[in-house]
Amino acid sequence: MAGIAFFNIPAHGHTNPTLGVVRELIDRGHSVSYYSYESFREKIEVAGARFIACDFYDAQLGLGPEDGARIARDTAFSIHVLVETTLALDGMVCRELGRERPDCIVADSMAVWGKAAAMKLGIPFVSSTTTFAFNRESAKLMKQSAGQSLAMLLSIPKMNRDVRRLEKLGYPIKSFLQLISNDRDTDTIVYTSPEFQPCYESFSEKYAFVGPCILPPVSSFEKKAEKLVYISMGTVNNDMPEVYRNCIAAAADVDAQVLLSVGALADIGSLGELPENVQLRRWVDQTAVLREADAFLSHCGMNSASESLYFGVPLLCWPQTAEQGAVASRVCRLGAGIHLASPRAEDIKAGLKLLMEQGSYRANAEKIGESFRRCGGAKAAADKIESLITSLHNV
Ligand code: UDP
Repeated sequence: MAGIAFFNIPAHGHTNPTLGVVRELIDRGHSVSYYSYESFREKIEVAGARFIACDFYDAQLGLGPEDGARIARDTAFSIHVLVETTLALDGMVCRELGRERPDCIVADSMAVWGKAAAMKLGIPFVSSTTTFAFNRESAKLMKQSAGQSLAMLLSIPKMNRDVRRLEKLGYPIKSFLQLISNDRDTDTIVYTSPEFQPCYESFSEKYAFVGPCILPPVSSFEKKAEKLVYISMGTVNNDMPEVYRNCIAAAADVDAQVLLSVGALADIGSLGELPENVQLRRWVDQTAVLREADAFLSHCGMNSASESLYFGVPLLCWPQTAEQGAVASRVCRLGAGIHLASPRAEDIKAGLKLLMEQGSYRANAEKIGESFRRCGGAKAAADKIESLITSLHNV
């Protein structure tokens, strides 16, 4: 029996895929601790892990929900937040890890305090990557605006100065790239298939492409019309009243049931009257909905896109960040969706109609879904973690 410590950021998209892996490891007799945030305690404990709260060691940056979008767009700001969080968590994390002495740390690619602790304490490490795997080749597909690229280039010295503050506390990390990216030799679990990952051939055998670990639906969704359209902009940067109003206007003219999940921040009163075929929710059991859906208007977060393709649902793509742009491009390149031309009602309507009327989109989405199912999911991820631990015990 081994001890495994997971680390994650407070984001559903980064946490959900790991929960099946936690369950699988526990079923195999291992013990799992999970460093995360209170609002994720319940789902982590339900998966069977011992939960360790990081909330009380907040970096005092006073971040609000609106900062989620800035973190996704502004690399220097996100490095600052990651370094401050690592510094704030240092005492607690090192103390806890010293006590539990795990055989392996599995940290989300954004939860760099887990990776940093593994390096500082000499604990074997596996990176958990819920987006596309990232290297020189695949990075070329994450198109940033010229302004964003310039801002990033200009802030490299500042980011490296920020990261060097970690050295004083014993973290052997010299550059921001070392903190946020993996090299060819990093054992890495990637929650997608070789077929969906761009530039798959450029990754070493240390990368395990296990496919998305889709959480099974916990409810059933009742489809009330022949076609069902689902709309969601994810859980982070989802306060988009203008887009939702246009979706509602478009829906009046689409021959389908339309379900909008608008998130916690939306001012529902400002969205106006709903046509009879439209339902509006702050949160839905997304996989239960996608199991029944015929088209999905999505921001193309990696999880939403993967869940959609898993159930063979074609996507109308409205990405908001470089990373979502890369997912959207891959979906469209493989013929499983189309880019939304603009968030105007007539473009939304035209896009949804095309996806529902032209069968090739659904067929291509199903093909990618099959590639996901061939990957092994949570079992393959648990195999990867076990094989690292076993190989180190055998040296
Ligand atoms: N989600 C959900 N219900 C909702 C909206 C989102 O269960 O009403 C889940 C969705 O299934 C996915 C995650 O939240 O697993 C969103 O992750 P994604 O990577 O798509 O986007 P993010 O929220 O990180 O931008």
